[in-house]
Amino acid sequence: MFGHDSPTVKMGLHKTYKGYKSYSYLQAGKDYREFSLVKQIGRVEPFVYPVSDSEEERVHELLEKNIAISLHDHAEVMPSDLNDMFAWIRANHTSTGFEGLAASGLDAVFDGLGDGSNMITSSYPWKWESVVHELGMRLCDLAHQDFVIRGEKVEDIRRAHREGRIAFIPHIEGAAPIENELDRVDILYGLGVRCMGLVYSDSNALGSGLRERADGGLTYFGEEVVERMNRLGMLIDVAHAGDKTTLDAISVSKAPVVITHAGARSVWNSQRMKPDTVLQALAEKGGVIGIEAAPHTTMSRAHPLHSLESYMDHFEYCAKLMGVEHVTFGPDTTFGDHVGLHRYFEKNSSVAWKEEGDPYQEVDYVKGLENPSEFPNIVRWLVHNGYSDEDIKKALGENTLRVLEAAWK
Ligand SMILES: [Zn+2]
Repeated sequence: MFGHDSPTVKMGLHKTYKGYKSYSYLQAGKDYREFSLVKQIGRVEPFVYPVSDSEEERVHELLEKNIAISLHDHAEVMPSDLNDMFAWIRANHTSTGFEGLAASGLDAVFDGLGDGSNMITSSYPWKWESVVHELGMRLCDLAHQDFVIRGEKVEDIRRAHREGRIAFIPHIEGAAPIENELDRVDILYGLGVRCMGLVYSDSNALGSGLRERADGGLTYFGEEVVERMNRLGMLIDVAHAGDKTTLDAISVSKAPVVITHAGARSVWNSQRMKPDTVLQALAEKGGVIGIEAAPHTTMSRAHPLHSLESYMDHFEYCAKLMGVEHVTFGPDTTFGDHVGLHRYFEKNSSVAWKEEGDPYQEVDYVKGLENPSEFPNIVRWLVHNGYSDEDIKKALGENTLRVLEAAWK
C-alpha cells in the first residue's frame, strides 16, 4: 500500500539510511589518518534466532509499531587489526556504524563514550580533555548527515521512530573526568550528554566502583552531583557503581535512576551483576535495568557459555523479580572484535578489565548479540518464548520512555 520512498512509513527494520560514511566530508589520508575498519555486518557469521515465518512477521510488526531503545551500546566501528588500536584511538576520528545501526531496528541508542580516546595513555581516571575531544568529534561527524539525529529530548526519540531515523544519546560511562568540579556536569549537558554513570568500576570522587574491595557509599560530592543531575535533567546511571553507592544514589535522587547495562547476580555470580536488593530498590524508585551482553558478563548456570540464551535468562529473572515495567536492553555491543579488544587491553595497557566472579569458559563472541545489528534477535526470542505484544512494547522502549519523561524534564 505504501511505497518504500515515503519517509513516514520507513520504520522498524526499514530505516532511511542513504549510505553516509563517517568523515566523508573530509579527505581521508590528508585530513585524518585512515584505518582499515571491520565489516559492520558479517564480521562473524550472522546468527538469526530461529523463528517461524509468522513469528518473524510479528517481530517486524513489533519493531515498526513500537519504539525500541538501547540503553547502552558502543555504535562505533573498530579497526580490523587490533594492533592499530592505540594509533586509531589517538587519531580520534571514531566512525559511527551507520550501516549496522540501520539494520538494528533501534530508534534510539545510548552510546557509551568516554572509553576510547581516554586510553591514549591507558590511564584511569579518564581525562576531561579526551572526553570532550571524543564527544565533539563524534557529534561533528553526526552533524554532517541526518540519518542519525541528536537525542536530547524525548520528542527526538519519538521523531526518530516516526521518520525512520535513529536518535543518538551521548552517555558518559563514569564521572571521573569531572574530577571535583560540579559545573563540568553542566558543561557535559551543554555538549549534549544526557546520561552519565556516577562511577566506573574503580572508585572516584563521587563514590565506590563495583570492582573495589569496600564500598563507602556515595560521597558528599557524589550527593551534590546527583542533585545537579536532577536539576539539569541528566539521567543517572549506576551500572558500574558498587552496591552501597548504588543504593545511596537511588535513595538520594529525586528522579528514577537506571542501570544501563548489567544483569542479576542471582543468575550469575560476579561483581558486575547486581544483587536482588539493588534491583528491587531500583524498581521501587521507578527505574529500569538494561540487560548487558558484553562478552563474559551475563552468563547463567543454565547456559554457562555466554550467548543470547544466557542473556535472556537475566532478562527473565529481572522481569520476574522487578516486574517487566523495570527491565529493558543495554546490550553494550560494538562493531569489532570485542573479546579481542578485552584481551588486547589486558596485555597492552594498565587498564584493569576483570571483575571477580565465578570461573567461566571464554567464547570468541556472543552468539546472537555480536553487534548492534543483531538487536532484532532479542525481539525474536521474546516472540518465540511467548511474551505478549504489550510486554514486548514495554521492554523495548516504553519503560525507558517513562523514566526519561521523569528524569529529563
Ligand atoms: Zn560498561
